[in-house]
Amino acid sequence: MNYWETCIQEAFEDAGIEATKEQIDTVVCWVEGAHENYGMAHGHDAIPNPLQAENEQLKRELKRQMSKIICPECKGSGWEFVAGPVHSGMSSCHKCRGEGLVTA
Ligand SMILES: [Zn+2]
Repeated sequence: MNYWETCIQEAFEDAGIEATKEQIDTVVCWVEGAHENYGMAHGHDAIPNPLQAENEQLKRELKRQMSKIICPECKGSGWEFVAGPVHSGMSSCHKCRGEGLVTA
């Protein structure tokens, strides 16, 4: 008894369909075939896997972070000294917006 057979038997039962073993086998064949072709027909991402999607997103984010360099304006502190006409003080860096890192 394979996975699809179990699925389909349960689905038939649930729907109140009386099917012979041969009828179920035929449906199983079709579903199996359709499932195998599904990825090809709809592309690799057609069956979303939340964990994999999250993993990919994290990898992209990590790559983005790793491609960053220390902000040359604030030397990575995220702050810059702003000398103004009225008062002077520390402000978050205009270049990296206080992050201390900029995209290289
Ligand atoms: Zn900066």
